[in-house]
Amino acid sequence: MAKHQHKKRFGQNFLNNDRIIQQIVAAIAPKPDQHLVEIGPGEAALTGPLLDIVKKLDIIEIDNDLIGPLTQRFSHNPAFHLHHTDALLFDYSQLIETDTETPSLRIVGNLPYNISSPLLFHLLEYARYIQDMHFMLQKEVVERITAQPGVKAYGRLSVMIQYTCETEYLLTVGPENFTPPPKVDSAIVRLRPFEKRPFQAIDDKDFAKLVKQAFSQKRKTLRNNLKGFLNDEQIEACGLDPSVRAEKVPVEAFVLLSNLYHKDKA
Ligand code: SAM
Repeated sequence: MAKHQHKKRFGQNFLNNDRIIQQIVAAIAPKPDQHLVEIGPGEAALTGPLLDIVKKLDIIEIDNDLIGPLTQRFSHNPAFHLHHTDALLFDYSQLIETDTETPSLRIVGNLPYNISSPLLFHLLEYARYIQDMHFMLQKEVVERITAQPGVKAYGRLSVMIQYTCETEYLLTVGPENFTPPPKVDSAIVRLRPFEKRPFQAIDDKDFAKLVKQAFSQKRKTLRNNLKGFLNDEQIEACGLDPSVRAEKVPVEAFVLLSNLYHKDKA
């Protein structure tokens, strides 16, 4: 491919280490009969090895300058389906071919770091179609996603993702493995949407609203952050001390809080 000018606005840090690329592909463990979706193929560090294996690979890339080279290189391959669009706006349900109940999409990507949280929230809306996701993200974001209650990294992102998915921290990847090198460490995370969630809120929208509110001011107690949502008695009824901070509250307790909030509103 002709030399590409990396664009900061698209978070273009391309993988340059074959060993790491192989480790990522091994972690994904793609099978020939599977349907994968890659977000942000860039210069195809992962795309090439994945296309060698799977029967279908949908690729979503926003950068106009990468579309020509990707098409030239792979359009002969019947598994290759390129979508020149913004992954944040993409409707992932359009990729589902059959009306089978089994979630079939496997989503992967070395994600542009500047959009990782909104993209994860967007993808969670399609969780019922998704078998699993493997993403390279800033290490700090992977730590937040996988954090357990009581540690500093535990926050809204941890709760919202752990409500929907099993999470697993797989591998730390240093900046030297990218061109250009990012300023921080990266890590790979595996997210597997639950077939049946261990804890289910009555209303997912109210759950999301309550969790956002509970973490709205990190230093404040639940009592303070949830003012206007729930009173002390209601917080206590969920087995929680109102003077605790949200960073200590497990996912299942957020489900109880949001159910009380939902019933109270009705
Ligand atoms: N997969 C390649 C690799 O590992 O070397 C490139 C990864 S690079 C970190 C992120 C890629 O996502 C770039 O190709 C970039 O153009 C693309 N991208 C950035 N924002 C995007 C968006 N909103 N929708 C789709 N692709 C996007």
